[in-house]
Amino acid sequence: MGVWLEGRTLAEKIKEEVKEEVVHFRRTANEVPGLVGILVGENRSSQIYLRSKEKTSQALGIASQVLTLPAEIDSRTLKAQIEELNRREDVDGILVQLPLPSHLKAHDIICAISPGKDVDGFHPFNLGSLLANEEGLKPCTPMGIIELLKFNQIPLEGREVVVIGRSLIVGKPLAAMMTNENATVTICHSKTKSLAGVAERADILVAAMGKPAFVKPEFIKEGAVVIDVGINQLTDAAKARELFGEDEKREKDLADKGYTVVGDVDPRAIERAAGMTPVPGGVGLLTVAMLMKNTLVAFKRRRHLEP
Ligand code: NDP
Repeated sequence: MGVWLEGRTLAEKIKEEVKEEVVHFRRTANEVPGLVGILVGENRSSQIYLRSKEKTSQALGIASQVLTLPAEIDSRTLKAQIEELNRREDVDGILVQLPLPSHLKAHDIICAISPGKDVDGFHPFNLGSLLANEEGLKPCTPMGIIELLKFNQIPLEGREVVVIGRSLIVGKPLAAMMTNENATVTICHSKTKSLAGVAERADILVAAMGKPAFVKPEFIKEGAVVIDVGINQLTDAAKARELFGEDEKREKDLADKGYTVVGDVDPRAIERAAGMTPVPGGVGLLTVAMLMKNTLVAFKRRRHLEP
């Protein structure tokens, strides 16, 4: 039976460090980092994610604002808004909450953000810098995973890492970061043959698929570390009971909200793993903490201060 690799302690530590620096800059230079989140349309999950980012920013003393734009906004008008934010002196970080309405192309919109203000790290310039193992703003979720592994003294060099999922926000940048850390990395996706067999080779297995409890305990090598990135809503009470047994909190979630949040990995995999991140309470907490850190980094770089 492995240990749960909780994200809370590290997330709190990172946020505390950011807060201390923000206080320092406010006191010494009368300036604080500024973050603007752009919400297009009324996607309920996006509203919740952005509100949580805004709340965290404010708690750390970062000047935060959410710009809500109508779902039918055209690409040219949206890009003009972003360009205005690029020019604003008081804005250090800009993020566009994904997904966007289907008539807007995320790549096209993200390209309009100045790379120095791209705190999500999704701009091709920043992704290219990551591939080149050079400085740049890095995607928050993968960066949080690397920090969590380091915090728990789990080495990467020479280890076999299998990443399930090849999205531009998690799987691909994480694979690049792991490679930069000298791990041997395999990326899997929906066309991968014998996924279980590939996963079983992993010393460190990362699941970022968006498929509730898809990765079964038998996919996991005895003693491996499992990073569960998935955030899925499970509405099936019987399935929840099968996965978690009698769990008061989850039963309450199901009764109150109609769902409980589960990862991409069957939680019973903890029986074979040396360590595994819980969902919720694992990687998700680090994503927001890393966004705060990126905002501070962007603020300092724009002023040519030490990173
Ligand atoms: P995407 O939908 O963009 O990507 C999913 C990836 O999983 C794709 O590469 C897809 O393959 C692969 N995949 C899907 N089904 C299978 C399968 N049966 N076998 C192998 N591979 C498969 O998702 P994201 O990367 O955006 O997110 C993944 C999960 O992580 C979601 O649950 C999301 O909510 C969560 N998430 C959590 C964050 C956090 O802070 N904890 C942050 C961001 C995301 P293919 O490319 O072939 O389609």
